[in-house]
Amino acid sequence: MPLDMVDTCLCMGAGITMSQGFSWVEPDAVTFSFVGDSTFFASGMTGVVNAVYNDANMILCVLDNSTTAMTGHQPHPGTGRNMMGQFVDKVDIEAVLRGIGVKKIVGVDPLDLAASVAAVKECAEEKGVKAIIFRSPCVAITKPSAKLTILDNCINCKKCIREIGCPALILQNGRTTIDPNLCTGCGLCSQICPVDAIGGAKHE
Ligand code: SF4
Ligand code: SF4
Repeated sequence: MPLDMVDTCLCMGAGITMSQGFSWVEPDAVTFSFVGDSTFFASGMTGVVNAVYNDANMILCVLDNSTTAMTGHQPHPGTGRNMMGQFVDKVDIEAVLRGIGVKKIVGVDPLDLAASVAAVKECAEEKGVKAIIFRSPCVAITKPSAKLTILDNCINCKKCIREIGCPALILQNGRTTIDPNLCTGCGLCSQICPVDAIGGAKHE
């Protein structure tokens, strides 16, 4: 909450195989699975092979921040650096997916809301295994250069809180506000405010 986006949450690698199972049980529903770039290499690829081979109907969302953010930023085959610290050729996620046989692959910046929604809709309209690669740098590595603030013309509709689900968007004395300690300046919330009440410089 508040996004209420995930129906099942077991583990990232298992999500791919679970979602292809659900696509057989509920053929009219569009099923999504989410996997980070490091988990894609560690345990996600095998599930995609299974999905393609068995003609599943699902959308794989790869959340590619080019690091292993959850467990300490270790190198993985998509980072271009190996365990010995050498710079090496990256293994390209899109090329791997194409090699497996995924025909529909879309790359998009998740901080561009309109483009992200369009990518999801485009993939949802097609049958088979589709993949969306959401690429954006890890906020723990790329430190924010700016934070956003809520301006005086805010009508306190709380749309930003309900629809973005960012932990920096909070209520303080009943007013919507941005916690400067948590805001990364990503600019996502400013794209949905109906009265352009979220200002400040976005980080690039
Ligand atoms: S969406 Fe805009 S107007 Fe609504 S609470 Fe957020 S900042 Fe205020
Ligand atoms: S700019 Fe990004 S990090 Fe900051 S409050 Fe808005 S959505 Fe959250």
